[in-house]
Amino acid sequence: MTERAPLSRKLSAIAESATLKVDSKAKALKAEGRPVISYAAGEPDFATPQFVVDAAAEALRDPANFRYSPAAGLPALREAIAEKTRRDSGLEVAPSQVIVTNGGKQAVYQAFQAVVNPGDEVLLPAPYWTTYPEAIALADGTPVEVFAGSDQGYKVTVEQLEAARTEKTAVLVFVSPSNPTGAVYSEEETRAIGEWALEHGIWVITDEIYQNLTYEGVRAVSIVEAVPDVAGQTILVNGVAKTYAMTGWRVGWLVAPADAAKVVANLQSHLTSNVNNIAQRAAIAAISGPQDEAEQMRLAFDRRRRLMVAELSKIDGVSVPTPHGAFYVYPDVTGLLGREWGGRRIDTTLQLADYILDEAEVAVVPGEAFGPSGYLRLSYALGDDQLLEGIQRLQKLFG
Ligand code: PMP
Repeated sequence: MTERAPLSRKLSAIAESATLKVDSKAKALKAEGRPVISYAAGEPDFATPQFVVDAAAEALRDPANFRYSPAAGLPALREAIAEKTRRDSGLEVAPSQVIVTNGGKQAVYQAFQAVVNPGDEVLLPAPYWTTYPEAIALADGTPVEVFAGSDQGYKVTVEQLEAARTEKTAVLVFVSPSNPTGAVYSEEETRAIGEWALEHGIWVITDEIYQNLTYEGVRAVSIVEAVPDVAGQTILVNGVAKTYAMTGWRVGWLVAPADAAKVVANLQSHLTSNVNNIAQRAAIAAISGPQDEAEQMRLAFDRRRRLMVAELSKIDGVSVPTPHGAFYVYPDVTGLLGREWGGRRIDTTLQLADYILDEAEVAVVPGEAFGPSGYLRLSYALGDDQLLEGIQRLQKLFG
């Protein structure tokens, strides 16, 4: 008998999402009754606002929503997204440039599919969200990491990008506020990067999913607002998950130049067709309705952010740059490495995260999930009591 033909090499090379892995390990331990506190999840702990849920309930009673709808999204939602893009990213777009996707994740995947050709290099500022390198590889591109450590506020400079640019550079990934670091680029920094991309004809994929979660009066200025001309070579990615506590609803989108939107719409018409109509109706309510509940959630995140930075900073060997966006802190913990803790030799943050989970029953994501070792990502999208208790356990563990 001949051996079975192999699995796809491309898919076999894809790793499981490291953040989801840590989170599901934490959830499994919790299910066993262990008092695990998890800072691993990238999702708000709040309920979706009631008026959004009501809009979905109403949509359930309308038989029009039981049918296929346009693959690129409901016209009313594409219009609402065009309006939101004008409001928050300072860019006028036609609804036809908007493609509604099954979460921001599908938008990220499809954006790379739209602009990457085999062998193209994609500049990826690190630390980066774990999904990007895999999405780039699935588009037959090569991720080229450009690292910015805590000493530069986790923000890459034009000089670094220019040093990494080659003949093959086709795309730059630009994420502000950043997951995992919470860093927000200033308007000047954003403009410099946008002008550089424009000068070299490089596509920009800008992930703005955290754009409404910024603190201390900082605003995440969209790269297309800072450099309007770069819009012709930019794909914006966004979604309702983070701002409206709607991770499970699975509604995201991308906004692209007309020709890019067209190829993405074609891809999506074969891949998934329309996003669930009920969820799309809910998304219309979320982005077009009153924004005060979203603002309340933002204020809660802000309070937790300050608590996290203050308490984590009390641990010797931990340095915590203040994040100005998203809901993550990304401390530099190199001071805890290269020594023994509880009789265990700990050299990497992978080992450190394991040690913390075993000994303190606290789940954190190691820097290795986002680039180099030496860092931990802690999400502060969890309730205040848990938030404080978890940090106190860490203070005790490393005290
Ligand atoms: N982009 C970034 C930077 C994210 O952190 C996430 C969620 N972790 C997403 C996109 C995707 O979000 P979703 O698919 O839930 O809309």
